[in-house]
Formats: sequence, structure tokens, C-alpha cells
Amino acid sequence: MIIQLDHMKEQGLSRQFQLAPHDFPDATAWEESGDFKLLEPIRIEFTANRIGGLIEVKGQIATGVASFCGRCLKPFRFELDETFVLTFTNEPLTVHEDGADDEEGIELSAEELGLIPFVGDSIDLTEALAEQFFLALPVRPLCSEECQGLCPYCGIDLNDKKCDCTPPDFAGKFSALKNMKIN
Ligand SMILES: [Zn+2]
Ligand SMILES: [Zn+2]
Repeated sequence: MIIQLDHMKEQGLSRQFQLAPHDFPDATAWEESGDFKLLEPIRIEFTANRIGGLIEVKGQIATGVASFCGRCLKPFRFELDETFVLTFTNEPLTVHEDGADDEEGIELSAEELGLIPFVGDSIDLTEALAEQFFLALPVRPLCSEECQGLCPYCGIDLNDKKCDCTPPDFAGKFSALKNMKIN
């Protein structure tokens, strides 16, 4: 996933490609964690443009992922389909504060400005895309927004059956408080 900048004339540059799951950085680490497994090649398309001294890469990353529902614990599959915008710079950055007397300005690192530094005349997207992809994974994947989950008392899957479990009687405990006088 390398952009050669000398291929990028005024027009910018568009690319589409697919990456086998095991070629994606950290994919093996996710699988070992047991939370996610990539089921399909990862489809990536992007357009890169020069904006001043910056290179802006906009695109989309998509694939099928297997995971376990955070409520009912069943395995399920979902589509990950995310757009991204990454901005790269190879220039040293200095920001001048308005009205500051000194000419030096404040040195801000590329990262502090939300930019991704690169050196030379090519950009390797791999790491930045892997990070985007990782951020796009749900923290608590759900097989469905309406998933009823498991009964916390008997463990039955409430999507399939109902049970007679009743929550402990908190209401009863607190009803005693109703008669309390607060001065
Ligand atoms: Zn579920
Ligand atoms: Zn129950």
C-alpha cells in the first residue's frame, strides 16, 4: 500500500486493491485475541491529492468480520465499512502564534496536528490504515441492536425463550426509605 509521489501529478491518484487477511498488519494478533476474525480480503480504495504541502488520502476500507455478540455471546458476522481521511506531511512544522514577538513560533509535531509524518518520496499507507481499521472495530459488537442478551440469573438466551427469573427486590428494599423523614 505504497503511494509513489512522483506518480501523483496535478490530478491526484486513485487506487483500489484487496489485501488477504493475513497480509494485513496485526490481523493475526486480533485473531489470537479471539475477539475478531477477518473472513474476507480487505477491500481498500482511495484517492490521494496534494493540498499545499500536504498529501490528503481519502478512501474506504471494508471487509467481513466474525465476532461474538457482547450480549448473547453468539458468534455472528458483520460488515465493516469505513471511510477515512488521512493527511500526511513531510515538512517540518512550525506554527506561529498570532501576535507573538519572537519569530520562532512553536514547534508542533506532525502528530500533535493530527498529521502523519513521512520521509522521502513515497508514503506507505499500511500502518495508518491498520490503525483506522482497528479504530473502526466496535468496542462491544452486537449481533443486533435489539439483541435481548442472556438472563443474568439463569443464563437463558432471551432471544429464544423467556424465563421467570425476577431481579432481586431492590424496589422492596427502597420502599422502606419512603417512610423515612429527612430533616
Ligand atoms: Zn446477541
Ligand atoms: Zn432467567
